[in-house]
Amino acid sequence: MRCPFCSANDTRVIDSRLVGEGDQIRRRRECVTCSERFTTYEVAELTYPHINKSDGRREQFNEDKLRAGMFRALEKRPVDMEQIEMAIARLKHKLRSAGEREVKSRTIGDWVMEELRGLDQVAYVRFASVYRSFEDVRAFLDEIERLENELPPELKKDQLDLLTSESEEP
Ligand SMILES: [Zn+2]
Repeated sequence: MRCPFCSANDTRVIDSRLVGEGDQIRRRRECVTCSERFTTYEVAELTYPHINKSDGRREQFNEDKLRAGMFRALEKRPVDMEQIEMAIARLKHKLRSAGEREVKSRTIGDWVMEELRGLDQVAYVRFASVYRSFEDVRAFLDEIERLENELPPELKKDQLDLLTSESEEP
């Protein structure tokens, strides 16, 4: 690390500590030549694979977009923020460890659907209906039926009010 004061090449670290939530290292350095002190921060560079869209375009992974899509599906659903954040963290981890240079947007969509299924069935169906754009109404109804059969009875009323409650809202 070059000294920002005199440009000497040799500086030494006089103190290191973890900052933030432990994902940053703060280093206090001293120039061997001019004795000026300065601070550097070290963070891990997290890289995500590119997203390969169905139309062949590639784009950077965008966490805000992922978040927005999930929140749209979860709107007004009784799900804790903390649970949502944990799901997003799992998705990001999955992406980072995918280890490939590109991941199909379809694959990410499937992962998101998996997470939403665990969080809230209605959110899952909402997301799936937009994302998968169910080819016909029949496929959509089949999916709802399949979910209904999977749910324990006490959850059915609570979760699968999608078709009735939405139309009743003002
Ligand atoms: Zn210096």
